[in-house]
Amino acid sequence: MTAQPINGKAIAAEFRQELARKIADFPSEDMPVLAVILVGDDEASKIYVRNKQKAASEVGIGCEVMEFSSSIGEQALLNVIDELNANHHINGIIVQLPLPQHLDTLKILSRISPIKDVDGFSPYNAGLLAYNSPDAFISATPKGILHLLLSTGVELSGKHAVIIGRSNIVGKPTANLLLNQNCTVSITHSKTQDLSTIVKTADIIVAACGQARMIKGDWIKQGAIVIDVGINRVEGKLCGDVDFEGALATASFITPVPGGVGPMTVAMLLANTFQAFCRQQTEPKHCSCGHHNCHCQG
Ligand code: NDP
Repeated sequence: MTAQPINGKAIAAEFRQELARKIADFPSEDMPVLAVILVGDDEASKIYVRNKQKAASEVGIGCEVMEFSSSIGEQALLNVIDELNANHHINGIIVQLPLPQHLDTLKILSRISPIKDVDGFSPYNAGLLAYNSPDAFISATPKGILHLLLSTGVELSGKHAVIIGRSNIVGKPTANLLLNQNCTVSITHSKTQDLSTIVKTADIIVAACGQARMIKGDWIKQGAIVIDVGINRVEGKLCGDVDFEGALATASFITPVPGGVGPMTVAMLLANTFQAFCRQQTEPKHCSCGHHNCHCQG
């Protein structure tokens, strides 16, 4: 068997075109606007933000990047988020991660109004996802992963999905998302014993551990679907968490790195921003409590 590559780049491009059509056809004079908070000088973060800004403008979403020095205080950053929450021209707010050490990431993310939390990183939206609520903003990378899995046409229900990594932004939300698809989910991490034996039982492998080519070809069950989330730089070249060449012989489908999950992440963020914009058109504009279905008129 030679695995079929899942062309995330092409799938994301098609998705963005469709989104651009929907935004152009939307009966409103306003355009969706995403605010991006960027703290510090991390070069990778700057590149990610630039990519998001470019992709947003291509589909008709405004993108306002607010840059702050790495020395910004926590209260000052919370105040910025409060202002964005109250600004009716802003539909989505994201904070580019990682934040500098002195800032409490959970506290900062929790401050974003749930109806503008288009990264889905706040505890409120993470909770809605765990409840399988249709109101949840689903984090972009897990949402992109699901989209890629569905693109294979393989029935997901009942499949054993093994996720390598338990971060709040990839591993855990992906686990909840696949559980909601009726997969049987195993979450593994750096303390997991005998990882290769567990991976060998997987029908679906989601590798999100940030360890270059750690998942070997002979860990992969014949016919498994492999989604490689990892982005690692080895000798100046990008590679994933899976030994791509080794996996080709046993997997049925596999995402390449680059050109797999990465492009989907940006496309899903844009989709979430448009979703936030649509929801906010039909909801009370002056509510400041931030709850999605709230009619408090506060
Ligand atoms: P984190 O560093 O936050 O989490 C990594 C997870 O992998 C942790 O749960 C860690 O376990 C686990 N892990 C680390 N080493 C091992 C090991 N040897 N065996 C088993 N598990 C291990 O990373 P992220 O979740 O943020 O990202 C994961 C990867 O995905 C990175 O390469 C990142 O660059 C990439 N990424 C790609 C995106 C895309 O759009 N393509 C988007 C986001 C991330 P423990 O909890 O025990 O420490």
